[in-house]
Amino acid sequence: MSYSASREPTSSAAPSTDAWIERDAAAVWHPFTQHSTWVADEPTLVASAEGPWLIDLDGNRYLDGVSSLWVTTVGHCHPDINAAVKEQLDTLDHSTFLGTTHRPGIELAEALIDIAPQGEGPQLTKVFYAGDGSSAMEVALKMSYQYSTQTGHSRPKFVRLTSAYHGDTLGAVSAGGIDLFHQTYRPLLLQTIAAPSPGERHEGIDQDDHVAACTEELGRIMAEHGSEVCAIVLEPLMQGAAGMLNYPASYLQAARRLATEHGALLVCDEVATGIGRTGRMWSVEHAGIVPDLLACGKGITGGYLPLSAVLAAQHVWEGFLADGSTTPRTFFHGHTYTANPLCCAAALANLRIMREQDVVGQAAALGERLGELLAPLRDHPGVKEIRRHGTMIGVEVVDRGPRTGFEVCQAVRGHGVWLRPLGNTVIVMPPLNLGEDETELLAGALIKGIDEVLT
Ligand SMILES: *Cc1c(COP(=O)(O)O)cnc(C)c1O
Repeated sequence: MSYSASREPTSSAAPSTDAWIERDAAAVWHPFTQHSTWVADEPTLVASAEGPWLIDLDGNRYLDGVSSLWVTTVGHCHPDINAAVKEQLDTLDHSTFLGTTHRPGIELAEALIDIAPQGEGPQLTKVFYAGDGSSAMEVALKMSYQYSTQTGHSRPKFVRLTSAYHGDTLGAVSAGGIDLFHQTYRPLLLQTIAAPSPGERHEGIDQDDHVAACTEELGRIMAEHGSEVCAIVLEPLMQGAAGMLNYPASYLQAARRLATEHGALLVCDEVATGIGRTGRMWSVEHAGIVPDLLACGKGITGGYLPLSAVLAAQHVWEGFLADGSTTPRTFFHGHTYTANPLCCAAALANLRIMREQDVVGQAAALGERLGELLAPLRDHPGVKEIRRHGTMIGVEVVDRGPRTGFEVCQAVRGHGVWLRPLGNTVIVMPPLNLGEDETELLAGALIKGIDEVLT
């Protein structure tokens, strides 16, 4: 600790949380954060973590109720993932994937193809690595467009959904539809056609009627613009960042059919929903369909390290082969740390644990159990709606000002559970292998927090 000691010349004791927060406020610009209220909101300083627990500098333990922003699968500092990363660290730290290859990168691609979804649509046979969810979406968007130019004609437009979220880089923002996050950047973005989201709720309109109208509108958009559309882009069955807006399989099945009918690709963003989060390995499995490009990220390394991937259909891959073509057809895209071996080793260990311990089955049961435990909230005067798809849960509370959701999360923190809201929707998305005691603690803390703030 000589570094921190040099910053704290008057004290031989370890710096306090307040001292660290002061240094943080002086030097750090946090993501998605308004810094005028940051310090007053008393951020948690996470000092260590184990299993589903985050531990602060003073030794307080908080259940990680949102999987550290939707990434942790089998718990923090899992001994098997730790061991796999350490072993990889002593073998090969990094080598480029441009012109060389390595075993972890090959093995992980095979493992992902092995667990690729099956159903109506193509086989996913190739894996392209990227660094995080946003960059996987950049890959999927660029691949879709380039594929159109190499297999027919240039189709410069994407169909996106309102309330969509695909990440924060400009291509991903182009496919997004959350005004609060995306509106500022609209003048900078790609050409898109917005289709109304089947996940949105509209006061006084029956949800089945709304979904039917959205399905019809997607058909109308494709009939009118289909020849200019290279891809329909969506989050399958659950729009996470919009506040957990779930929608039925029938819409996803219609999107699959319409894409095929009009020669466009279907891009499914499974960055949040994938790797077991919905109680199946992939959310598309609930609809029995397979997209042409599937983006995954977040939970792929168990929440350890940044890594994402695009699983591509064989026909897309073939559209990039130069055989007999006068253009290079190469996909000129890559990231310096593409397929970093440490990330691949973490992902391989995570997927092995998930297979050996049926973590996807555990997730399905956990989702059901949380649904049961939170059911009493349906009649709570402070709760508008509870939406759930597997272990992805949004509890929308009534609007008592722009920070109601945040206030609930602060109250919940007082009961030993860390949550983060999206607007007035409190998100619950715990590690997939959460035990019964912790599951009860999580649900109980949320109910108490809502009681305290909203009665
Ligand atoms: C989080 C998320 C992304 C972006 O992933 P990053 O790793 O934050 O870049 C993309 N799509 C969906 C559906 C997400 O939830």
